[in-house]
Amino acid sequence: MAGGWSRDGAVQDQIDASVGDAVKLARSRLPDGESLTHCEECEAAIPEARRKAVPGVRLCVRCQSVFEKQQTAQTLFNRRGSKDSQLK
Ligand SMILES: [Zn+2]
Repeated sequence: MAGGWSRDGAVQDQIDASVGDAVKLARSRLPDGESLTHCEECEAAIPEARRKAVPGVRLCVRCQSVFEKQQTAQTLFNRRGSKDSQLK
């Protein structure tokens, strides 16, 4: 009877462990929500104040501004491109 109990307990322990791992894995792969401690681009440390101010931040201030400039440039380029094609 003691054997039966310990066997059930062991199986339950295994289930708990695998569920815990899955949750941990899912959390580590979340695209948003968790702020990174280090920049995704240059791996510079992201200050805690910035991580709190920008939930889910993935880039340091420097890379973020470069990224935003690229986004803006991309948007302007696309607009100009579509305008040109409309005129032709
Ligand atoms: Zn960076």
